[in-house]
Amino acid sequence: MSRVAQVDAFILTVPRDEPYLGALGPGETPNKRGYFVRKGNKTVYPIFDRSVVVRVITDSGVAAWGETYGIVAPKATTAIIVDLLADFVVGRDPAEASAIHDDLYSLMRVRGYTGGFYLDALAAVDIALWDAAGKVAGKPVYELLGGRKREELSGYVSGLPKPTLDERAAFAKDWLGRGFDRFKFAGAVAGEGIVEEMAKLREELGDDAQIACDMHWAHTPDQAIDAIKRMEPYDLWFAEAPIAPENVKGLAKVAKSVDTPIGAGEEWRTLFEAQLRYDVDAVKIVQPEMGHTGITEFTRISKAAHERGISILPHATVGSGIFLAASLHASFSLEGVIGHEYQHSVVERNHNLMTNRIICSNGNYQLSDAAGLGVEPTEDMLSRLELQTE
Ligand code: MG
Repeated sequence: MSRVAQVDAFILTVPRDEPYLGALGPGETPNKRGYFVRKGNKTVYPIFDRSVVVRVITDSGVAAWGETYGIVAPKATTAIIVDLLADFVVGRDPAEASAIHDDLYSLMRVRGYTGGFYLDALAAVDIALWDAAGKVAGKPVYELLGGRKREELSGYVSGLPKPTLDERAAFAKDWLGRGFDRFKFAGAVAGEGIVEEMAKLREELGDDAQIACDMHWAHTPDQAIDAIKRMEPYDLWFAEAPIAPENVKGLAKVAKSVDTPIGAGEEWRTLFEAQLRYDVDAVKIVQPEMGHTGITEFTRISKAAHERGISILPHATVGSGIFLAASLHASFSLEGVIGHEYQHSVVERNHNLMTNRIICSNGNYQLSDAAGLGVEPTEDMLSRLELQTE
């Protein structure tokens, strides 16, 4: 048996040449913290990439890694880890990652901490514990999760970060030439209009490409129904996050009113949140985000989806690669996974941060069979990690 001896939290900041989703639009000005608001969806983004990284060290000297969101207020998340979670994990056996997850969840649930920064912190710890369990056992995490169900997994090109529609269409066509035939464009930066973007991409990419629209929670239900119906003649693959995430009934109404599958779930952190939507048939595609769920809850959300005939298409946000590796291990081990988001603007740029680089070539992710998550921070990444002590 192995015991956790130490849990540390770090902040990782990686500069970007261009903000996520592309260049800043008119009136989108960063404040002194480096944050700005996208006019298209009224949501805050940083001009850099930033995540929270967790390291678990076992009594036998195994170092294991987890990661979660840190895009804004990262010290809220690291304080939860350093001040609260770490001491409740020290002494536990990482092979019991799911049980530890549930104990940590219970610590604060009656105080209403069933989301947000608390569960992001828990997700990072959970991922690190699974990595530790795999390394101690000498097995890849997908084996601990029941074994590999597929040899490769299709990745879809996410976001076309160019300023004009013509350039976005050309960018997508370039990826088509590199063997990718699934795409998602971002409604929040579709300056010429989402229906116009859908029509243009269909024209450029041909009938066989699958094209989805991320609607970025920006519409009322009636607006969303109208916009989706106007994209349907161009064979929309799925419509993601059409309305405000808290409006469960509204999402069910949209789903019933259109032929296109509705996708959602990147912002959910627990099976409880997922079930509220599953129970009213609000989604045909669930998009769990490893950085919010951790491995334990990701697999629960996905298994419950598969039992109900809902497809799983995991979300992949920015990060060093640790939580992407965790997402791939879970995705390769689960039934009903139809693909995985590919953040081209992050994955290849971050290859200098991780050993055993995550590769998505010719439209397919491959997964290493090294123990644990199969990725380790490089010297470059270690030099960027800022240890948090309070
Ligand atoms: Mg999205």
